[in-house]
Amino acid sequence: MTPKLIIAIDGPVGSGKSTLARRVAELMGYVYVDTGAMYRALALKALRHGISFEEADDALVVLAEKTSIDLRADDGTQRVLLDREDVTAAIRTPEVAQAASKIAVNAGVRHVLVAEQRRAGVRGGVVMEGRDIGSVVFPDAQLKIFLTASPETRAERRWREHQQKGDAIDRQKTLEEILERDRRDKERTNSPLVRAADAVVVDSTAMEPEEIARLVVLLAKEGAARTTTN
Ligand code: C5P
Repeated sequence: MTPKLIIAIDGPVGSGKSTLARRVAELMGYVYVDTGAMYRALALKALRHGISFEEADDALVVLAEKTSIDLRADDGTQRVLLDREDVTAAIRTPEVAQAASKIAVNAGVRHVLVAEQRRAGVRGGVVMEGRDIGSVVFPDAQLKIFLTASPETRAERRWREHQQKGDAIDRQKTLEEILERDRRDKERTNSPLVRAADAVVVDSTAMEPEEIARLVVLLAKEGAARTTTN
């Protein structure tokens, strides 16, 4: 029987992780898990409750412990349920993105969400994307991809996504916003954004999404064959 792998995809904002992870999951018949959506959903709840984002704020940990975040596959898209409320669209704003990167600094919050992520992926057959999947959540994942692209390309992609949704956002502001989140993600003490030593680095600046997805599927099949023969 073909083993069901854990495929970890990490990288900075706008590197194309979601598009890649979704497509690889589709091609492999795997489950897609967007861990950023979990940080975003919790951030939305914290914003609504007026809870501060201070690094050691225990209120955030208590909030994380009593919050249910459900990721549902729905016809090729992922729906995000926060305490049963559909917040799929509500979590995709620059304000929630910034708030998510602030609560993601909190070690207690990470502890709660990482436990959830491990439960979701432990049986394999999963493509999980985030910042610390290959380094912390599943350090034994059979395939790790570190996806990157130039800051300008990443900002352009994010800006276009907002344009398509009809959000009027300045190009320069989008670049500043992603650079600020990158800095926070890389500089935090707990589970910073790093390339795991055994991750394959893929630069998506000049590659088509489909080309990258097929490359990852090839690597996954090679990994599965190796797992079977070992
Ligand atoms: O991936 P996305 O941009 O939706 O993630 C929102 C924020 O959540 C990131 O900027 C990052 O701070 C945080 N995050 C994280 N670890 C993950 C996934 C997301 O710290 N595994």
